[in-house]
Amino acid sequence: MFENYFFYKGKDLFCEDIPIKEIADKLRTPFYLYSKKAIQDKINQYKDAFKDYPTLICYAAKANSNLSLLKIFLDNGLGLDTVSGGEIFKGLLVGFPSNKIVYAGVGKTDEEIIYGIENGILSFNVESRQELDVIDYLAGKVGKKANVSIRVNPDVNPKTHPYISTGLKNSKFGIDIDDALDVYKKAVKKKNINVIGIHCHIGSQILDVSPYREAVEKVGDLVFKLKKEGIELEYFDIGGGLGIKYKPEDKTPNPKDLADLVLPVVKATGLKLILEPGRSLIGEAGALISQVIFTKSKKNKNFIILNSGMNDLMRPSIYNAYHHILSVEKKDEKIVADIVGPICETGDFFALDREIDKVERNDYLAVLSAGAYGSSMSSNYNVRPRAMEVLVDGDKYFVIKEREDYNYLIEKEIKPFERLKND
Ligand SMILES: *Cc1c(COP(=O)(O)O)cnc(C)c1O
Repeated sequence: MFENYFFYKGKDLFCEDIPIKEIADKLRTPFYLYSKKAIQDKINQYKDAFKDYPTLICYAAKANSNLSLLKIFLDNGLGLDTVSGGEIFKGLLVGFPSNKIVYAGVGKTDEEIIYGIENGILSFNVESRQELDVIDYLAGKVGKKANVSIRVNPDVNPKTHPYISTGLKNSKFGIDIDDALDVYKKAVKKKNINVIGIHCHIGSQILDVSPYREAVEKVGDLVFKLKKEGIELEYFDIGGGLGIKYKPEDKTPNPKDLADLVLPVVKATGLKLILEPGRSLIGEAGALISQVIFTKSKKNKNFIILNSGMNDLMRPSIYNAYHHILSVEKKDEKIVADIVGPICETGDFFALDREIDKVERNDYLAVLSAGAYGSSMSSNYNVRPRAMEVLVDGDKYFVIKEREDYNYLIEKEIKPFERLKND
């Protein structure tokens, strides 16, 4: 991973064919930097692994929904997996055909459901009985049938962080697999609904793929039970969740491993396959580039204070996630330090007690594997403009999101001082 797209030539850290320092000096920091080649290679791995079976790969927009990145997935023929009206909006804007957009989420609002129906999306992945009733009702009002799949919860442990395990019995997601047959029987009787498929998504950052097999076998059994009841489906959607490298020594599964495991089961059902990878398509392709504002030392501790923080990359703070961090210019000496942001929270860190090149004020650091759930989870906490985003393609780079400015941050707020002036 790091080796192919983010690597040292001499003392300089490169992204593809460009020294990152050159971009940082020019654009100023912080910014997210993405390697187009890394994204393209991942897409190709997925397409290759599943090329012999009818498969729709729907990129999970929540991992990173930058329009220019979405366009790369669109241009490769991928569909889009969404979890909100906003993501559907961005997908349609970029040009995804609505019949390649799937939509999951436990809390779809009436407005979002109507928006999806009006646009004729491929599938609402339905997560409760009540949602099914509401979709049927709203589709009747719109005067257009809605396509649905039932998201079943196979009660499988993906052996990942509890916050990103989504397929266990007590999770808020999906419908218990034991209830699913009954829900399907009700669904096929509804006037304004086309029942087209079955869906599951067991979690994220999955490094051991065996739980996938368990999940598709359980869901596959259900498909056969449905057939017996005369309920024929078209799509088997197995969700996303494949893990990536956060530490250089991490052993990660690749799309081929997933294909070898799940295809025999899916083939037996005869259904077309849908995949929803997010992190594994974009995660390793991105880095957050920041500058050292200050360094300081207390009795037993060194601190490296960056100009980006938990508002830019939340994963270390909320999941205690590890991100590998490299100096953009290699140094001869190392230190052990906490690498922190400027936010007024103790949880605002990128790494604790990390051995790292002895960087000084104004040096740059690259936080790796930040392409997924980085910019898409970022916020304006502490009234901080969010980072720019930059795409590298060979020896060229393109700004794909401008840095926010102070006026942008207050744009939607009522200005009480102006009102007072006018009174
Ligand atoms: C988040 C999510 C995904 C993508 O998960 P990754 O781990 O990023 O691959 C896919 N499907 C659904 C329903 C999701 O909620």
